[in-house]
Amino acid sequence: MSLHIETPLLESRPLSMLAGRSVWLKLEAVQPSGSFKIRGIGHACVEHHRRGAKRFISSSGGNAGLAVAYAGRRLGVAVTVAVPETATERAKELLRQEGAEVLVRGDSWQETNQFALTLLGPGDAFLHPFDDPLIWQGHATLVDELAGAGCKPDAIVLSVGGGGLLSGVAEGLRRHGWNDVPLLAVETEGAASFRAAVDAGQTVALARIDSIAATLGAKRVCEQALRCAREHPVRSLLTTDLDALDACERFLADHRVLVEPACGAALAPLYQRAPELADFDKILAIVCGGATATLEQIRAWAGR
Ligand SMILES: *Cc1c(COP(=O)(O)O)cnc(C)c1O
Repeated sequence: MSLHIETPLLESRPLSMLAGRSVWLKLEAVQPSGSFKIRGIGHACVEHHRRGAKRFISSSGGNAGLAVAYAGRRLGVAVTVAVPETATERAKELLRQEGAEVLVRGDSWQETNQFALTLLGPGDAFLHPFDDPLIWQGHATLVDELAGAGCKPDAIVLSVGGGGLLSGVAEGLRRHGWNDVPLLAVETEGAASFRAAVDAGQTVALARIDSIAATLGAKRVCEQALRCAREHPVRSLLTTDLDALDACERFLADHRVLVEPACGAALAPLYQRAPELADFDKILAIVCGGATATLEQIRAWAGR
């Protein structure tokens, strides 16, 4: 059983024209929970359910929490999501819409996560947003769909928060023997924990996150993300908050799909015609999505 859907794969005419090369999109924004996260989290939830879990617990006020809430509703398992005080009304509303119990606690994700862990009792399963082999296994299905469609790109551009998506896509590429397809791993400058890990040769905890792309704001990437960068060709790219927001606006105009800045970050190198793309004729962008995005919020940020 899988809780994610097979997403559309299409060539973007506007982005291909702009970039002067073929640009393909994997439209994860249309997943039922609004982002690719349901692939990995859905897979993990199905597995925990099979092992008899009676409740799922998450500490994410964003797309990971929404994926857990969606999975719980589909599987008939109770869900508790702890969210920080900073969680938006919209995020809380979407979580409640999925039937999850929402507990607001803590000023930062670290505090919220600490609190969530104290809730864990017998029969409860904790769902980490990115650092879990089950999650990488689930995210890898995205590459299975590319292979099934016979669409092998010259490079894949994706955004990096905690590195779960990167780890899963690398696993999928390995599974299909596509070790020659490089990953272009994009972060915003204020949330560059993957870049810091690559530069230091070990994972590093950033002192603070300074980016409106809160979804990319994991202070430290998972060890697996760094391992992937050693075993697979991965290039780290940085973009600005403004370019990520601009990409959200332009992508909405081009493809009528609204994504959050964490996803705009992955699209920004295409809209900005970044020199790092010049080596590739056929680029696949993972349009990772974002359920809590609103046009008002994106424009308010851009205006600041
Ligand atoms: C979670 C998420 C990311 C980052 O994924 P990681 O697995 O944390 O690297 C990027 N974009 C969106 C929309 C997300 O939900």
